[in-house]
Amino acid sequence: MKESEVNMIRINDIRKRYGSVQALDGVSFTIGKGEIFGLLGPNGAGKSTLIRIMTGLTRADSGSAAIGGDDVGGKSFQIKSLIGIVPQENNLDRELTVEENMRIYGKLYRIDNLRQRIGEALRDVELLDRRDALVSGLSGGMKRRLMVARALLNDPAVLFLDEPSIGLDPQIRRQLWQIVRKIGKSGRTVFLTTHYIEEAEMLCDRIGILRKGQLMVLDTPSALMNMVGAYAVDQIDDAGNLIQHSANSREEAHEIVCGLENGGTVRKTNLEDVFIKLTGERIE
Ligand code: ADP
Repeated sequence: MKESEVNMIRINDIRKRYGSVQALDGVSFTIGKGEIFGLLGPNGAGKSTLIRIMTGLTRADSGSAAIGGDDVGGKSFQIKSLIGIVPQENNLDRELTVEENMRIYGKLYRIDNLRQRIGEALRDVELLDRRDALVSGLSGGMKRRLMVARALLNDPAVLFLDEPSIGLDPQIRRQLWQIVRKIGKSGRTVFLTTHYIEEAEMLCDRIGILRKGQLMVLDTPSALMNMVGAYAVDQIDDAGNLIQHSANSREEAHEIVCGLENGGTVRKTNLEDVFIKLTGERIE
């Protein structure tokens, strides 16, 4: 098997500086075919900069990024046929219908069998029945799904989603996650950035935590949570401060609670605990 089939994305020691800000400070990782990968980190961590470099919109100061075995800096035309991008901002034309928005984009990118591809992409995001609806009448969740459909038009091997569910209600967010999961199952690699812990935890096969331009850890959600123990105890001390204890089992957590004067609450560990353990800070 070719290396590019195993590692669809390969990032090697990427660095990028804006003036005095080191936005990316030596980031390296690989992502496999069909994997849903989430880059999690607080605002300003460097997530968007990394996506911009991987999609050829910005050049890195040093290091390399390859998609499907091709260097992103070198053959950007070839890379464009491999990727679909869903940006954070809604850039749909609200005066046009769903189909017209897809058609304009498809013509711009010279997509073959455009009518058929539009149908397939709208079906993938469950918007086929809205083909003739005006974008101005769609809900926020539908608009986001339309942006995903548009990014799928060229049948990309890798789909990039920059903060896919930002601004969406929790329930709408879940619908979008289901669709993204389906896209991953169909064999495409999905690369998303998020600052929502739950989004990373629920959706991603593996998660990288980025902070101040550096990748702190990269692993499956369960392996990351095992780093801090499976259970946590939240204790409020006399001064009203939250103190967190970690435990490897529910029993151990209950023993900790019994030893606390004011008691405490037992819960399962989440990725925020991992982040706090690694950085001493909250993610948002
Ligand atoms: P995130 O997507 O994780 O919020 P960004 O990649 O947008 O982070 O930003 C990382 C850092 O780089 C931030 O400090 C941001 O202010 C800075 N930055 C990003 N883009 C630019 C730019 N075009 N010019 C100057 N500074 C930038």
